[in-house]
Formats: sequence, structure tokens, C-alpha cells
Amino acid sequence: MAAGLMLLAALAVAATLTSCGCGASSAQQTPEPPPPPPPNPSIPTFDGARALELIRTQCAFGPRVPGSEAHERMLSWLQEQLEPLTSRLLVQKFSARTPFGGPYDFANVLALAGTSAGEPLLLAAHWDSRPVADQDPDPANRNKPVPGADDGASGVAVLLELARIFHDQPPPRPILFAFLDAEDSGKAGSPMPYMGYCIGSAYLAAHWPEGWPKPSEGILLDLVGGDGKPVDRIPMQPSIHRNTIFDLGPEGHSLDANPQLVNAIWSVAEQRGHSAFVRQTCGYITDDHVPLIAAGIKMVDIIHAFPVVWHTVDDTPEHCSADSLYQVGDTLVHYIYGQE
Ligand SMILES: [Zn+2]
Repeated sequence: MAAGLMLLAALAVAATLTSCGCGASSAQQTPEPPPPPPPNPSIPTFDGARALELIRTQCAFGPRVPGSEAHERMLSWLQEQLEPLTSRLLVQKFSARTPFGGPYDFANVLALAGTSAGEPLLLAAHWDSRPVADQDPDPANRNKPVPGADDGASGVAVLLELARIFHDQPPPRPILFAFLDAEDSGKAGSPMPYMGYCIGSAYLAAHWPEGWPKPSEGILLDLVGGDGKPVDRIPMQPSIHRNTIFDLGPEGHSLDANPQLVNAIWSVAEQRGHSAFVRQTCGYITDDHVPLIAAGIKMVDIIHAFPVVWHTVDDTPEHCSADSLYQVGDTLVHYIYGQE
């Protein structure tokens, strides 16, 4: 996902405006959550271990950076996964330059799940990975690609596991999946819109495919699989990393666009006892939800801002956690099926 100087400035502003607890781990302790209610047999179970396995599979392709063979293989695999699980599939191909070069071939993958009538919900994540590990403390690593286990693969993994659940037990409302390409090729100072981040989501927002429903609201997942733990060789920077746990605070653009949905999701998470969901905002973050909000879709970004491995060569499956994936996936399952 995107950050850079604009993000740091935005975080600073958000910290000022909202008394956000960025970098202050002690400030975000909440009272002991109530025990989760007894399981409801009509609500399916989200399997965090399966989602973690889906992260490993994606990372085994190599970094899914624009123009790479791993990027091509990932696109084929994604279609193979979705075809048996969803009722309609669309690969929206386009070509674009990034701040790092090109033009490259890109593809957003859209899929529909659920057969019921009703207001569709958009569920989105980016499937590409970043071509440069420019936050790595070792200068020798900064031109290497990011493995993208948490930053990219984690959101895709949760969505694919949800697609399997929706196939087995249709959700009470239609779900439109958007697997977005070209999110993570931004560069601080780039004159391109969004500094070169969010190219795929901006393309989708500007070229909504004919005959496909355009939801009025949705949820974006990014960086939802990390274990949040410290890594010896990476110093913690309080200006970037909130702390060394996995925590999910509501994001600024999401709160502005759809405070009701933020509250609904975080309330479900609290009822389920998922301690990663905290109420302190994580500040304003440039991510794929921003162009979609501008196009009229009231998106909420669920994002861990930021693990210490973010945009380093250590963003690998070893630093991901089935429990983190479970907390997010279980919250979404209960939010979606709880609306029945
Ligand atoms: Zn990123």
C-alpha cells in the first residue's frame, strides 16, 4: 500500500487533529473485551490457517511486480481459483506506465458471488507487489522487490477464503470481488495521480465495466495478515510504525466516507472478541479505496498501519499469522451473514 512523505505528513496531521495514538502503544489499551457470544450454526467458519496457506502459494510465485513472470503466473492462478467459486468473472486488462517505467500490462479481476437480490457489497484487495523495498534499513536491499506477503497477498488470501465460503453457503447479499492490480508502484514525489499508487483502482473507477453492478459501499483489505512482531534488523520508527503488535485502527478517508460502516465492522469485531480492532484512528492513508470513494463507492479500508516489515524484503509469509487473518476474516463473515 501507499505511503511515503505524503502519508507521513497526513499521519502527522491526523495525529494532531484526532489525538491519534500513533506510536503510543500504551494509549490504545481498551477495557477487557466481553467473551464472544456462543457460535451461531448458521454463520460459517473462517479458516485462518487456509488463508495463511494462500499467502504462501502467492509468494511462491515470487514478487508479483509489473512486467514479471510472477505477475503473469499470479494472474492465471487467481482466475483459476475464482472460476469454480464465483458466478461471473471479468479480467479487465489495461496498459499503463508507473513511476518505475512501462508501459506494463495490468489486469483488475472482478468476480460475482451470491445469487440473492439486494444491495451488492464490494470487497477489494490489491494483488500486485511492490517493485522496490525502499523502506528497508539496508541500502543494498532497496532496489529489490518486496515479497508482498502481508502487503498484497494477505488481502487476496482473505478474499479467496471468503469466496470459498460464499460458494459453500451463499451470502445474504450479492458480493462483488475486485482484485486490483498496480496498487504498489508509487514513488514519493511522483507527479502521477496518487504518486503512482492505486493505478488499478483508479482505472476501475474511471472504466466501470458495462453490465456489472456498481456497489454503493465496500471494504478494502490491505496488510491484514502480519504477525505485527518486531524484527531484529529493522529499527522501529515511531513516525511510521504505531507499535509492534497487529492492530487495526479506523482509517481517516474511511471514517469520512462511511462512518456507519466503520462502526458496524468494528462493533462486530468487538462482539467477536477480536482485540486487533482498536478504535484509535491510524490516520489518513493513500490506498485503493481513495479513487473508489471519489467515484461514489463509500469504501472502508481495513489496514494495519504499519508493520515493521512494510516495504522491506522481510515482508514474507514467516512474518504472517493465521490468527491475524482469522480476526479479519471472521469479522467479515459475521458482518455479512449477520445481516440476514
Ligand atoms: Zn505497499
